[in-house]
Amino acid sequence: MSEVRLRFAPSPTGYLHVGGARTALFNWLYARKMHGKFIIRIEDTDLQRSTMEYEKAILEALRWCGLDWDEGPDVGGPFGPYRQSERTRAGIYAEYARRLVEKGCAYYTVYDKLDRKKELFKTFEFPKKYVEEGYDVTVSFKVPEGKTKFYDLLKGEVEFDNSTIEDFVMIKSDGFPTYNFAVVIDDHLMQITHVFRGEDHVSNTPKQIMLYRALGWDIPQFMHVPLILGFDRTPLSKRHGATSVEHFRSIGILSRGLMNYLALLGWSVGEEEIFNVKERIDQFDPSTISNKGVIFDPAKLEWVNGKHMRTMNVEELLKEFEDWIRYTDKKMPSTERNYTLKVLEICREKVNTLAQLYEFSYPFFFDDFKFEDQFVSEYLTSPYAEDVLKKALEMFKSLDDWSVGGTEKVCRELAQLGVASKNKVFQTIRGAVTGRLVTPGLFETLAILGKERTLERLAKALSYRSRLTQQSC
Ligand code: GLU
Repeated sequence: MSEVRLRFAPSPTGYLHVGGARTALFNWLYARKMHGKFIIRIEDTDLQRSTMEYEKAILEALRWCGLDWDEGPDVGGPFGPYRQSERTRAGIYAEYARRLVEKGCAYYTVYDKLDRKKELFKTFEFPKKYVEEGYDVTVSFKVPEGKTKFYDLLKGEVEFDNSTIEDFVMIKSDGFPTYNFAVVIDDHLMQITHVFRGEDHVSNTPKQIMLYRALGWDIPQFMHVPLILGFDRTPLSKRHGATSVEHFRSIGILSRGLMNYLALLGWSVGEEEIFNVKERIDQFDPSTISNKGVIFDPAKLEWVNGKHMRTMNVEELLKEFEDWIRYTDKKMPSTERNYTLKVLEICREKVNTLAQLYEFSYPFFFDDFKFEDQFVSEYLTSPYAEDVLKKALEMFKSLDDWSVGGTEKVCRELAQLGVASKNKVFQTIRGAVTGRLVTPGLFETLAILGKERTLERLAKALSYRSRLTQQSC
């Protein structure tokens, strides 16, 4: 059997949408499963809307998703260039347009020089004189009569009556090809065997099939995947909130969490919901993808992500955490590796994203945390807090066993002194050493922070308290 070749063909007119990432994932999965090739082709023929910045962002997002490609921008390959703008300049599309005109399957249209929308005439002869004189000239495909059928892996046989399809432009007056034309030329020349893409392209497919037929080429296997929808069941768009891969990366979704969630949108791998897509490549069967629209639920994505954060190797989590800190330009902890690992271990239990992990673990890494308002008003400025903090300082100073058991013993003894209720004592200490009222377990927190930091922070909270209470006198 010949090699399986799939492609993802983004237009660089925006950031990578999660729907695009899912399409790329399905193409990638099948290429990898079949030991074939996965290709990226940049469809940048809309000169007004395409930018290099978007192209870079899309490629970076795909890389981050782990969807590596075998041929394409930055990688090259035998069928490049992989940017349609460059292929246009190389004359590739013009050549095939000319062949179609020669066969009588396409024609030129010449437009008025002043009123550029007004057609002057159509012709099968190359209108050399008009081209030289700067008239706008396009090349259009002449839709034949009859019906156009194709087989879709998910939808089965799809049929269009050609009478519902008008002749369409293949080469625009700026010399650039239209999407429907370029996609056929490229998919053929790049020997693409399977085209998996969004359902929004079903209506383009008959035009593409007609072109394949007119050129006498084999037709690839098509699969149109239902679109991702918002809660109102309309296609997921900016109206529903942020939809780009970058957005989810910046709020601290892991690449493996996003890939797992996107795979779940349509592909049922079995009972199991949490998995590493890279370990399920062999199970990917495109024909089992759901043919119904699927709803994007950001809360479920976070939940899936949280599961990954808790079950992955903590060393890997540390790497992801540091990558994310660099990506978001936040302050990097400079604590010793073993300490950092311990912090992540206890903090990951309570969070679902890297951003939440950063926020939750902040007081373990930095001394400049703020005391939460609620801690200050309800605990720190209460009359008992001074005694609690002074006693805590005294008792922790003489503690040598900074294990979880050791810190627990001191906390319980403190609570028994009767200065305030156990809850108040514990919350006062918790708040003093972290600034917050919700943290990992208090005894673990103290044990990890260690003696020196705990004492420093208790003293700092005490002096902050006295400044506050003096001010209010
Ligand atoms: N450039 C097209 C898009 O971004 C590609 C469609 C296709 O895969 O054929 O929608």
